[in-house]
Amino acid sequence: MPVLPQPVVHSRAVVLRAWPSGETSVVASLLTEARGYVRVIAKGARQGLSRLQPLVGPGRLVEVEFGWSPGRELQYLKGGSLLLDPLLDANSLERTAYALSALELADRCRPSGVRETGLFGLCRRYLEMLSSCAAGDEAPLFYAFETALLELQGIAPELAACAACGGGLEAPGCRFSPAAGGAVCGACAGADDRPLAPETLAALRSLGGAAPERSSRRTSRETGILLHRFLTYHLPEYRLPAGLELLRAARSADAAAAAAKDDEPC
Ligand SMILES: [Zn+2]
Repeated sequence: MPVLPQPVVHSRAVVLRAWPSGETSVVASLLTEARGYVRVIAKGARQGLSRLQPLVGPGRLVEVEFGWSPGRELQYLKGGSLLLDPLLDANSLERTAYALSALELADRCRPSGVRETGLFGLCRRYLEMLSSCAAGDEAPLFYAFETALLELQGIAPELAACAACGGGLEAPGCRFSPAAGGAVCGACAGADDRPLAPETLAALRSLGGAAPERSSRRTSRETGILLHRFLTYHLPEYRLPAGLELLRAARSADAAAAAAKDDEPC
């Protein structure tokens, strides 16, 4: 029986996750432009000087070449090049945490059924923007990513008018209702719905635009909480990404240290 040469796919890809396999290899999940979600094995990638090693670092944008056997769970990574490592320069806890959190969400909340959904493009643009953003812009970029992920799934929050009655949101008393599908007016709001301040509504609206606006720390935090609740309600696969847990722990440790310092006798 003649052996057909195995087809090879060339594609840009985002490395979502990677974990060791055997003595020297790495298995990585890639979000590829050409084939969507693909898992590859990089043989010998943990050995010094392996040319595959730079291609399997989580958070990286790479150009890869892999053998393609549709029935196989793991494809063989053959080669490629590194296009962008957003964590290489100006590395900070914020940038690392938000980069890995977005990729964790992309990995867990992939739209199913359709091969190319726009998710690769979304992750690529996010990593490019994150790698060049000013310190402090990481959070709004991440919230914009979450909003775009919801849009891909066809469940972005309604923010233009009341999600329940279609009325205006100018009057005070607006709240945010994941169950109703977004912002609701005072008349439609339930007691359990979280109050929605005008600044938070403006911040949420700006996330759908080209450049999300930076807001006060309080508004930014509130925006994150509302999106977290919306994602929890609408995407069963969603849970708070590990990167954000890490950031939260680091921030509360900082706050505790600052408070302890304030308590020191003069
Ligand atoms: Zn209403």
